[in-house]
Amino acid sequence: MFLPQIARVALDLPLRRLFDYRVADGEQLSASDIGYRVRVPFGRHEKVGILVELPVASDLPLAQLKPLGDVLRDLPPLPADWFRLAEFCADYYHVPLGQVMLSTVPAGLRAVKQVKARKSRAVLPNAAAAAKPPELTGEQQVVLTSIAESGDGFHAYLLHGVTGSGKTEIYLRLIERALADGQQSLLLVPEINLTPQLEARVAARFPAAGLVSLHSELGDAARSRNWRAALTGEARIVLGTRLAIFTPLPELGLIVVDEEHDASFKQQDGIRYSARDLAVFRARQRAIKIVLGSATPSLESWANATAAGRGRYRLLTLSERAVEGARLPAVQRIDTRLDKPQDGLSSALLRAIEERLARGEQSLLFLNRRGYAPVLACAACGWTSHCHRCAANLVLHLADRRLRCHHCGFEARLPKACPTCGNQDLSAFGRGTQRLEAVLAARFPEARVLRVDRDAASSRKQWEALVARIYSGDADILVGTQMLAKGHDFPKLTLVGAIAPDAALFAADWRAPERLFAQLMQVAGRAGRAEHPGEFLIQTQFPEHPLYTALVGHDFPGFAAELLDERQQAGFPPYAHQAMLRAEAPLMADALGFLKSARHCPAVEGQHAVTFYDPVPMRLARRASFERGQLLVESPARRALQGFLADWLPQLEAIKAPSRLRWHLEVDPLEF
Ligand code: ADP
Ligand code: ZN
Ligand code: ZN
Repeated sequence: MFLPQIARVALDLPLRRLFDYRVADGEQLSASDIGYRVRVPFGRHEKVGILVELPVASDLPLAQLKPLGDVLRDLPPLPADWFRLAEFCADYYHVPLGQVMLSTVPAGLRAVKQVKARKSRAVLPNAAAAAKPPELTGEQQVVLTSIAESGDGFHAYLLHGVTGSGKTEIYLRLIERALADGQQSLLLVPEINLTPQLEARVAARFPAAGLVSLHSELGDAARSRNWRAALTGEARIVLGTRLAIFTPLPELGLIVVDEEHDASFKQQDGIRYSARDLAVFRARQRAIKIVLGSATPSLESWANATAAGRGRYRLLTLSERAVEGARLPAVQRIDTRLDKPQDGLSSALLRAIEERLARGEQSLLFLNRRGYAPVLACAACGWTSHCHRCAANLVLHLADRRLRCHHCGFEARLPKACPTCGNQDLSAFGRGTQRLEAVLAARFPEARVLRVDRDAASSRKQWEALVARIYSGDADILVGTQMLAKGHDFPKLTLVGAIAPDAALFAADWRAPERLFAQLMQVAGRAGRAEHPGEFLIQTQFPEHPLYTALVGHDFPGFAAELLDERQQAGFPPYAHQAMLRAEAPLMADALGFLKSARHCPAVEGQHAVTFYDPVPMRLARRASFERGQLLVESPARRALQGFLADWLPQLEAIKAPSRLRWHLEVDPLEF
């Protein structure tokens, strides 16, 4: 008896299921076809899916199955380990498998109308001679030896190295070894760190490795081309941001996650995955090495690499700067209770800037707040510039004379007078980067002041132009947000000042101190090169705060141990595992109502291993006209939490909610 063959296909749909099709009578597919893209009819249209299985039977009657369309064999099939990564991601973050699989394939390759592949340009081997590597420092030697000695198989390393200690050189040496062994390497970096400088540095070392990069601003064609080169094996090195974790790499032998603590590895919408955590999973299931590098590791990784996590990761340390004679910047606190800042600048900081100007060196002032001032207000009637769509103020942007909401994007022209009482004398309260820029320009008229924040560098191109300008010395004083804190070595920069870091000490988000420490440590790391020692000045009202004391001593381990102690006592991550259910609706009552129903689902009954918090409004309770609530669930055991979520989710989907209500579940949330 002849039975038609069944093809099971993953499609990009918000449904937790796969779709069966009937293979045409004349055609016979085999297991080696699994992983090819396929064209299938769906509704009145066609879609491109991925062939995941050739099951012997379907749950549906054969007569109901539609015929499978073309099997697209223009690319090699997606490899089995890529499937396992997608499956793990779908299971762990509780998202449909088809969405994970298809959303990570470049748009050009999942379009129904396939564009004809052009010969890749990005991966042509470059004939130039490879850049000569520096001789390793003693510390680098020790690190590389211990990695080499751990042998084959899965090994996770946490490379804790101070800024400028030569972590990147370690990555390059490991990549070199992987290349020699015929393996591909994947190097993940935070979004903003992926600059032409880094690409050039890797390409210069390995001119014949067909380096490709993958990041969110790459055009469709380039993204398809680079992804294809990874899949065919032409590209031996992939350098990318978080989405690059899903690149199919049939010969993957090494994963590096640089600045592993960086929040940009966590996707904040759609599939809320952590590229760092997926990277560890991927390395384990492929039985290869993974290196997580940072000057200020996440507490999760730190715990895994120290006694607290019973050494699940191996801790490797680079405690000194790699360049001969280079020292870490001297960190000093300026007590602003005694040295009161004028327009945000203490006299000690002003003097330090003057010294740099006199010597032709650069200064960087770090202020993590964009705009001119966080709020505009009328002293006569009490009006404030409030966003009518969010529970937040409109920020004054004087550069283009607008009021702007940093949460929903709403903007309006700067009013000439108070909209309520007509008073023409409105005051700007507080200070953002634009105001600081103006103050500095007035105070140092001869200096070139350059502001670097998301307004000044809204595209990658603008950002790269600014970096190049600073690098060439075409600026004296930089005013920047955390954008400037990361991974750039500016040869003339010898002074960094933190203008107003105190607010984060007492922020409601309990992760704020961890982030502040990382930011300050990173921004401090911009100061100083071998011939010019750097200085980092912190303006604070709380000079004795342990966070600043630890910074002065460059003591990340001490700071981390203290925070981990607190976390353990409070039962917070990494000593607990969390998931956050968020709901938003035009009315808070609806959002909270949904969360209350969720709180009383049958899956919740009798759950002893999971703690449930009460539904509460989010800290930013309204955004873009939606009122937002959240419900936190937590367990000391990851497995218990995962088991519960799997039971809970179908019940959440069954809750009858008002039509304009939206909700999502986030596993391992970072923001509260
Ligand atoms: P990190 O990634 O830890 O910030 P990098 O690898 O970028 O550090 O190194 C910082 C600086 O030190 C770079 O200018 C790099 O060229 C240099 N460097 C790295 N390793 C060595 C070495 N072994 N000898 C001399 N210079 C080095
Ligand atoms: Zn008024
Ligand atoms: Zn708004």
